[in-house]
Amino acid sequence: MAVQTVAGNATTAPVDLGPAAALSCRECGERFELGPLFACASCFGPLEVAYDLPTGSPEELRKRIEAGPDNIWRYAPLLPVPSDVVEKPNINPGFTKLVKADNLARELGVTGGLYVKDDSGNPTHSFKDRVVAIAVEAARAFGFTTLSCSSTGNLAGAVGAAAARAGLRSCVFIPHDLEQGKVVMAAVYGGELVGIEGNYDDVNRFCSELIGDPLGEGWGFVNVNLRPYYGEGSKTLAYEICEQLGWRLPDQIVIPIASGSQLTKIDKGLQELIKLGLVEDRPYKIFGAQAEGCSPVSAAFKAGHDVVRPQKPNTIAKSLAIGNPADGPYVLDIARRTGGAVEDVTDEQVVEAIKLLARTEGIFGETAGGVTLGVTKKLIEAGVIDPTLTTVVVNTGDGLKTLDAVSATSQATATIKPSLDAFRAAGLGTA
Ligand SMILES: *Cc1c(COP(=O)(O)O)cnc(C)c1O
Repeated sequence: MAVQTVAGNATTAPVDLGPAAALSCRECGERFELGPLFACASCFGPLEVAYDLPTGSPEELRKRIEAGPDNIWRYAPLLPVPSDVVEKPNINPGFTKLVKADNLARELGVTGGLYVKDDSGNPTHSFKDRVVAIAVEAARAFGFTTLSCSSTGNLAGAVGAAAARAGLRSCVFIPHDLEQGKVVMAAVYGGELVGIEGNYDDVNRFCSELIGDPLGEGWGFVNVNLRPYYGEGSKTLAYEICEQLGWRLPDQIVIPIASGSQLTKIDKGLQELIKLGLVEDRPYKIFGAQAEGCSPVSAAFKAGHDVVRPQKPNTIAKSLAIGNPADGPYVLDIARRTGGAVEDVTDEQVVEAIKLLARTEGIFGETAGGVTLGVTKKLIEAGVIDPTLTTVVVNTGDGLKTLDAVSATSQATATIKPSLDAFRAAGLGTA
């Protein structure tokens, strides 16, 4: 198989992406100049951003971060973005709420502190705004004029919005049968939206072909040829969680898995905070969550395998429906290294968990949130997640985009004439 390592018509001048120093191969460690590369020219391993991280005292850096804006750019010294990033038009995601979920904790028997990191509060209502915001900076630096992606739904909307704001053209690709909310969110920002007759893995394969073709010249695919930069956006979830806990590592974090990028980069972010002395170095455990109908990583974890066997997805959690997850093997490493686990839940458990979070904390998560909380509940009941320790559950998206999951069981309690008699007859008043 031919692996495309260089794509598009990148500028060759050295680029300013702040503390980003180079790209390095996750497998063999070979380093490459910053550019729109995503696979190692020697071993085809995935590339990631290597940094010259800030030197100086942790106190100084902490102060500098705390004085920054209330969005991901407060962490600019740790991200591959130019130093004047805050002055550019972008959608400024991040610094979403970390909700102390005491009602949910009581219901689940958690005594050590349970938190929901609620990323539905981002500009396009999913965590994808974080990764796209970073990819936009890379696209600008490399001279791309069209922003693109293969998406399970949320990414398409995030790219559409970010491109609109940055004044770039966008053309995004999704499986043709996504939820209405995702389709509308992807189209409303005015870019081009293409439904592909196939599942996400087909969409992704199509995009890889497009990158190597003149039809895709000058296109920055945020999660393909800009993937090393894109991935770094997820580190900000780790930074925010720790800062919001008072510059402290949580003991346990539960994270949904689609391609596995988010989970691996949250781990990278936590490691950086330890290295920089911004948090005390203590053990933490990372847990991955999948839907049973698309559980290739969970299946590999349980079988004790190092490789992930692809599956054909069939689940209501469409935002997580990647049957051949690129970062699957790295997720397995991280779960095993930290003493965590990867688990899956059925679609019924996903729906139950969406309603549990809404009922206890007033947070309406999308199906991915249901997967994550459902897995959290399952692992607490199995004694795998320790209820006496601090636990953070990441809600990555907004339930308004996946209404179908709960609409059958979430309807009006009664429909009545506008009269007290009718209200009384419905048995709903106090008297
Ligand atoms: C994309 C997505 C994820 C996970 O993405 P990764 O590919 O694993 O980084 C999780 N939740 C939602 C809502 C998403 O859209």
